Amino acid sequence: MTNGKALSRREAVRNLVVLAAGSALIGCTKESKPLSCVDTSGLSSDEAAMRKTLEYVDQTPTPPKQCDGCQLFKPAAPESCGACTVLKGPIHPKGYCKSWVQKPA
Ligand code: SF4
Repeated sequence: MTNGKALSRREAVRNLVVLAAGSALIGCTKESKPLSCVDTSGLSSDEAAMRKTLEYVDQTPTPPKQCDGCQLFKPAAPESCGACTVLKGPIHPKGYCKSWVQKPA
């Protein structure tokens, strides 16, 4: 502790090391958890059933046909689930369903 005095050089270096380690840990945690947009707990049974009927998946089986290239996709912040005009609930930018429509160029 400093007891009201300026930080010693040793304390300042130690604080910087702790700060850098904490930032690196947060960065690693963010990168290691893939985006998931499959939580349908807030949907009605009909809304959840519609996702199954249209065979929504988080990862398209037919690239480049994916939600962020679909006319019906409503993007959110980067690395976040978006929304869809047809399907309720979270939508992965790399997802896909049978209602995919090419976004106009
Ligand atoms: S219609 Fe289907 S492919 Fe298009 S954004 Fe919605 S879920 Fe994705």
